[in-house]
Amino acid sequence: MDNHFVYLNNGITIKYDVLIWAGGVQASSVLTNSGLRTTNKGCLAVTNTLRLVGIKNIFSAGDCSWCIDFKTGKKVPQTAHHAIEQGRIAAMNVALEIEKKKLITYEPRQSLIILSLGHHMAAMVYNDFMIHGKIVLLLKTFVEKYYLFMCKK
Ligand SMILES: Cc1cc2nc3c(=O)[nH]c(=O)nc-3n(C[C@H](O)[C@H](O)[C@H](O)COP(=O)(O)OP(=O)(O)OC[C@H]3O[C@@H](n4cnc5c(N)ncnc54)[C@H](O)[C@@H]3O)c2cc1C
Repeated sequence: MDNHFVYLNNGITIKYDVLIWAGGVQASSVLTNSGLRTTNKGCLAVTNTLRLVGIKNIFSAGDCSWCIDFKTGKKVPQTAHHAIEQGRIAAMNVALEIEKKKLITYEPRQSLIILSLGHHMAAMVYNDFMIHGKIVLLLKTFVEKYYLFMCKK
């Protein structure tokens, strides 16, 4: 792909002006080759404690997990917010497992989603509410900078 054309594997070239990518996310082949139980997107199937289905000593968090919200039955979106929260819960559950204590259940919270729409626009979605514009882009920049600042602390 370049700024004007998309080149397909079958040799076809498609000219474009605005490109909307809806390809989705495929997990690394490391997982499918691991012998662990994976889903159709190559992610690891986990229980509500983020433990792998059928395996006691492995926990998984983030994009590589096929994590279901057990309240709604829906797949948890693969976003940074959920990855960070799952990482926290998975780490605590590793410690609790070592101490032979009851594991914490992961209950995903409905999160605010901010999407970049090119370099000059962004949209913010929360439940059925959506706004877009440059102000949202500013907010997204702030969120990114705040996250990096907190990482350095
Ligand atoms: C184009 C794009 C835009 C996005 N925008 C947003 C957004 O605006 N907001 C949001 O919340 N989320 C966004 N996401 C999703 C977000 O990036 C992911 O949900 C989040 O990064 C998941 O974190 P993770 O730690 O699980 O995985 P990752 O951040 O992908 O980390 C996995 C790490 O593993 C490494 N790795 C992979 N294979 C191997 C290997 N074989 N050996 C060693 N290391 C390996 C990778 O290099 C990477 O560093 C976006 C994703 C994409 C692709």
